[in-house]
Amino acid sequence: MIGSMMNYQLTLTSIMQHGKQINPNKEVVSITSDHDEHRCTLSDIFERSAQVANLLKSHNIQKGDRIATLAWNDFRHMELYYGLGCSGAVCHTINPRLHPDQVNFIINDASDKIVFLDVMFIDLIKAIEAELPTVEQFIVLTSDVAVVEHLGEKWTTYEDAISVYSTEFDWPELNENDPCQLCYTSGTTGNPKGVQYSHRALVLHTMAAIVPDAFSIGKNDCILPVVPMFHVNAWGIPYMAAMAGCKLVFAGSKVADPEVLARLIKQEGVTLAAGVPTVWNLLAQYLQDNNISLPSLKKLVVGGTAMPPHLYRYFQDEQDMAIIHAWGMTEMSPLGTINHIQAKEMQKWDEDTLFEQKLKQGVPVYGIELKLVNDDGKEVAWDGKTSGNLFVRGPWVVDKYFNRPDVENVNGWFDTGDISIIDEHGYMKITDRSKDVIKSGGEWISSVDIENAMMSHPEVSLAAVIGVEHPKWDERPLLIIQNHGDAELTHDEVVTFLIGKIAKWWMPDAIAYVDAIPMTATGKMHKLKLRDVFDGYTF
Ligand code: AMP
Repeated sequence: MIGSMMNYQLTLTSIMQHGKQINPNKEVVSITSDHDEHRCTLSDIFERSAQVANLLKSHNIQKGDRIATLAWNDFRHMELYYGLGCSGAVCHTINPRLHPDQVNFIINDASDKIVFLDVMFIDLIKAIEAELPTVEQFIVLTSDVAVVEHLGEKWTTYEDAISVYSTEFDWPELNENDPCQLCYTSGTTGNPKGVQYSHRALVLHTMAAIVPDAFSIGKNDCILPVVPMFHVNAWGIPYMAAMAGCKLVFAGSKVADPEVLARLIKQEGVTLAAGVPTVWNLLAQYLQDNNISLPSLKKLVVGGTAMPPHLYRYFQDEQDMAIIHAWGMTEMSPLGTINHIQAKEMQKWDEDTLFEQKLKQGVPVYGIELKLVNDDGKEVAWDGKTSGNLFVRGPWVVDKYFNRPDVENVNGWFDTGDISIIDEHGYMKITDRSKDVIKSGGEWISSVDIENAMMSHPEVSLAAVIGVEHPKWDERPLLIIQNHGDAELTHDEVVTFLIGKIAKWWMPDAIAYVDAIPMTATGKMHKLKLRDVFDGYTF
């Protein structure tokens, strides 16, 4: 016997229909390559999503087919989010900051059939076009036909491509477990791995994220997602906006320009902005230098890396904002924990203790379960002292990676690769990482890839790379070398050697020499020990 309620499918189409019916006139403001300030409504976006769906139909795109986007945050990208997902296809967002070899791998791994891209990424794609056999069409997100002249017959502009189609579409009945979005993460070693989100996961994630003790989003909000739409669906904000009914502001390629961000926040009355600490650092600097305050901005969502204390204090004390510190992952759609509003009893704590508590990554949102496990596989206590490997489970946590049956969860729990402690109030604090990666400006650098490249140098016996705290980028790579002989390579020689082997922004910021790199019992380089040795290192 089962319950007697309707088996209503939780799909993005339901969010779109709700947005269309209940919140059609909410404004969406965007900066794009062909508009300094584009204004439209949610209703306009959904009509154009229908044009996208009609375009896919004419290309014979089938349910489950992957369609790629390499694009900044703007209204067109949002049209693709809904147009692709709600028609049954999968919107595969690609991070354009990746090395071209990785973009090539990702498009081929996903067998993308169409690539929608911003003008800025034409050169990137043109350079690998011949190696992308599955792609039938490249559609540039602009109205400027001049940019596609001479690019070849597979190339067209978005406005030309969709303009001939109807703004009506007979949206299919989808199953809530059908896939709708795909995002690759480079957060581990080897090739990037794809996380394919289901409609159900994203709907439940949206419902969990908008509640008062999470992002606290309502109809009167105006949201600026600084987090790119190619990073875990911009943390789900395009769905939250349609579900809750709020205004959206997209900064296009200007996401890291603090002057533009401050202007948009003031001009549009942004109440909530979301991004990584690197961007908030730039903004804080700009606001301080120019003596600007942003009274409309009440909620600052911070995630991707830990919020540095000085930034927390600046935005809290000088700008009177509530800091919503979130932790999550691509594999978690991404929301896992939130540190937002402390319970009343915590407000009575002394200021230092309360501030320490605020800096933690927070408590799990409903839907996410946490578990700390030691190296022997035993669960450890939530005592605020004992650290363990952080495992999670829930309806918006990845079960299997795309095309990777070889990588499996452990008894239904996903190993986050983060090491943390959890206190008796359920507040989780990240203390380290077991995964070998460095997060610079919110983007991953694989230490193992740099090490492998470096160890092919004849003078180098062993090379280890660790992340070291950096005031602007949160973390930057420090290369630690154990030499064969006495000759020490200079920084310039290392950079020259690594050019072409790794992305330019992955270049180590400094080199340190050691007599012997510490090893673990199983013969691996002992990164935890190295991180201890270089604790407090400054570039
Ligand atoms: P990504 O999949 O690129 O979103 O990266 C997820 C990883 O970023 C997590 O496993 C953490 O290592 C790190 N991370 C995300 N949010 C935070 C945070 N608030 N504090 C510390 N680390 C974070």
